[in-house]
Amino acid sequence: MIFQHNQSGTEALNIFLKLNRSGMKPDLFTFSSIFTVCSSLVALDQGEQVHAQTIKSGFLSDIVVATALVNMYNKCGSIEKASKAFVEMSTRTLISWTTMIAGFAQHGRTQQALQLFEDMRIAGVRPNQVTFVSVLSACSHAGMVNEALGYFETMKKDYRIKPVMDHYACLIDMFVRLGRLDEAFALVKKMDFEPNEFIWSTLVAGCRSHGNLDKGFYAAEQLLKLKPKDTETYVMLLNMYISAERWKDVSKVRKMMIEEKLGKLNEWSWICIKDKVHSFKPNDNSHPQSADVQKFIENLIDQVKSLGYKSEERLELTDEDEEATLFSSTSSHSEKLAIGFGLLNTPNAAPIRVIKSISMCRDCHNFVKFVSLLTSREITIRDSKRLHKFVNGKCSCGDFGALL
Ligand SMILES: [Zn+2]
Ligand SMILES: [Zn+2]
Repeated sequence: MIFQHNQSGTEALNIFLKLNRSGMKPDLFTFSSIFTVCSSLVALDQGEQVHAQTIKSGFLSDIVVATALVNMYNKCGSIEKASKAFVEMSTRTLISWTTMIAGFAQHGRTQQALQLFEDMRIAGVRPNQVTFVSVLSACSHAGMVNEALGYFETMKKDYRIKPVMDHYACLIDMFVRLGRLDEAFALVKKMDFEPNEFIWSTLVAGCRSHGNLDKGFYAAEQLLKLKPKDTETYVMLLNMYISAERWKDVSKVRKMMIEEKLGKLNEWSWICIKDKVHSFKPNDNSHPQSADVQKFIENLIDQVKSLGYKSEERLELTDEDEEATLFSSTSSHSEKLAIGFGLLNTPNAAPIRVIKSISMCRDCHNFVKFVSLLTSREITIRDSKRLHKFVNGKCSCGDFGALL
């Protein structure tokens, strides 16, 4: 049985559980696709159960299943388990090496990513384009400019791999994180092709973070020329224009959103506890524990305020065809609700894992950092763009991942 991409993750997981209960034996393809489902749901507990099953069934010796397992642990935020599963693999392919390097890179474990890359080369496995994306992103994370540029040259000269958009995106992201905006823009000019939406969004977000509004507005103009298809991008731009009180630009962006037939942000988060997936939407009271969760969050906000958290009021558009704006509170953002639910329903030291349909906003990102400090819990949030792992008041993304 192979689970379809368009089938909802929860549905697929339920079918798998039913299949298990009925006593039917899953095959190789079922195992690798159920790992993919667990990854997309950040369902670590279920993933671990399936892992145990693959050991019993003997399917773990299959390279595809084993690689899917490593990928599942990576995506569920458990880098230690991913690493262990990788070490235990009897044979490794380019894909399995690359998966593990990508995992280290995403978790901000730069040294381990680079060490593994060297091990891979020593093992005689030739890296490909994708491997280099992970290597560059690892360097970008740690702000290792010389190393990144060195690997970029090695890729071109020693391996004759032509740089693609993703390679440049990593380098641009690196310069942006370091606040070296001139170098980031210089790199854009150097590219043989037109930058994509992702690159311009990185530049917009970076310029905003570093307070360089002129460059930020320039990047925003370029981004708008590409007519992005993504609501999130427009919301990011709207917020930027609203905070600068550039109302003409606000209207322009609104008009474009209507022309592109883009609606409101489809924001929701989900969390998997035991065998159940719980989903949360902002201002949605349909979950049986909604009232308790909301109260708990308000209480939590007060507690983290005493640690130094300041809630950020944001200007947000109320409705699709309304020009009016209002101050809105971010206390009902879905990941806050999912985290609150998780904290209420899991034992004290248990890690919390949440998945979110769009990028985190800067306020929620800041809030979760404080919650991880206050509760000493490890909180992982996979949003539409990045993996955020919050431990002791810090996030693995280095604070450049909160786009909205
Ligand atoms: Zn938020
Ligand atoms: Zn983060």
